[in-house]
Amino acid sequence: MPAKGVLVAVTADVVIAGGGVIGTAIAWRAAAAGLDVVLADPAHGDGASLVAAGMLAPVSEALFGEGALLRVNLLALARFPSFAAELEQVTGHRVGLRQEGTLAVAYDAGDYAALMRLTAFRRSAGLEAEELDSRACRKLESFLSPDVHGGVLFPGDWSVDNRRYAAALRQAAAAAGVRVVRDRVTAVLTAGGADGADGADGWVRGVALAEGGEIGAAQVVVAAGSWSGAVDGVPAALRSVVRPVKGQLLRLRHPDGMPPVLTHTIRATVRGADVYLVPRADGEVVVGATQEERGPDLTVTAGAVHDLLHDAMSVLPVTSELILAETCAGLRPGTPDNGPIVGPAGPGGVLLATGHYRNGILMSAATADAAVACLTGRAPAPEWEPFGPGRFLTRQGAR
Ligand SMILES: Cc1cc2nc3c(=O)[nH]c(=O)nc-3n(C[C@H](O)[C@H](O)[C@H](O)COP(=O)(O)OP(=O)(O)OC[C@H]3O[C@@H](n4cnc5c(N)ncnc54)[C@H](O)[C@@H]3O)c2cc1C
Repeated sequence: MPAKGVLVAVTADVVIAGGGVIGTAIAWRAAAAGLDVVLADPAHGDGASLVAAGMLAPVSEALFGEGALLRVNLLALARFPSFAAELEQVTGHRVGLRQEGTLAVAYDAGDYAALMRLTAFRRSAGLEAEELDSRACRKLESFLSPDVHGGVLFPGDWSVDNRRYAAALRQAAAAAGVRVVRDRVTAVLTAGGADGADGADGWVRGVALAEGGEIGAAQVVVAAGSWSGAVDGVPAALRSVVRPVKGQLLRLRHPDGMPPVLTHTIRATVRGADVYLVPRADGEVVVGATQEERGPDLTVTAGAVHDLLHDAMSVLPVTSELILAETCAGLRPGTPDNGPIVGPAGPGGVLLATGHYRNGILMSAATADAAVACLTGRAPAPEWEPFGPGRFLTRQGAR
């Protein structure tokens, strides 16, 4: 691996800008498909992928008016177990996939009415949901507060330990021959010599790096999460489309000897505020998350920690006995329609794989399939059709 600060003269079939779960999953699968891959990232995976809660939750994320997103999320969920199994087999490491299901609970009658409206919509979309009264919720999760009004079990929503998963992806990519350059991609370079900033002229010839080097490649994947718009050569109309949506989140741990307090992921609404608790096999419980439009701010605030713990304790009082192990914040790569952006854009040979917003862990395996299809001249699954970059180019009347 070239050291940071050294000019590199590297060539490959494909260079990928960004080593979060999206870029690394694509790198692994592209290398496994026989392509020579270089992945460039100054931090290698320090973005949203390591902050996330790891829910694989197409059902409890399904909202009114997001049918196409639901379909691609269901495709992603169906793909995840075999992808994770292959990852575990290649690396010898467990990624912590849990398939017990998700229990959505409502704290008061108003929260319950809102949950029932969403449940009716999700059922109408063919999704499985089992209504439970307060007692039945506590039968599933004995530490839930008797104050919980009622809930719904979504058996089709799972979780993965996103940190173990991201580490396994990095290991699998390295084993498949992916080379890593620890540097920031500043621009996509085109054969005409320009940096492609005008959007679509020429064919890509590689990327320029912040430290002054270049990587030569006939195909470039921009998978830089919330920072994807900062790469010169991404068409101007797309550069402002991906925005950072801040999320603050807590990681709790069981004290030594304390048995697990949860089996299912809990998604609770407490007087209109949403909170989730995601249990891990190793005793961690992830509590999240805020959703804030604050630009690229990564500070953790006392108010957010208070609110998350308060709401978590309202539905699961035993939370107060867990150890507060970590507080963190990350930037979800959001888009105007909440959908990802996966497909060719700008100069020939440039592919975008970004904008995965709240579901990038869930969508990583399916995104890798779609990206590798594009890189090898095949069509991605039809569920991806609504999520090409073109929807923002035509909407804004720009290329
Ligand atoms: C609080 C929170 C909770 C979440 N919970 C869930 C969840 O439960 N389930 C789920 O599916 N998703 C969840 N998400 C969303 C998920 O984390 C993201 O959608 C996903 O991580 C995006 O992955 P990515 O690889 O595109 O971006 P990132 O993980 O942000 O990675 C981008 C990478 O690009 C690198 N980079 C930036 N600029 C450049 C450049 N110019 N050149 C090279 N590299 C560059 C960065 O260093 C970084 O490593 C959550 C997010 C947050 C913040």
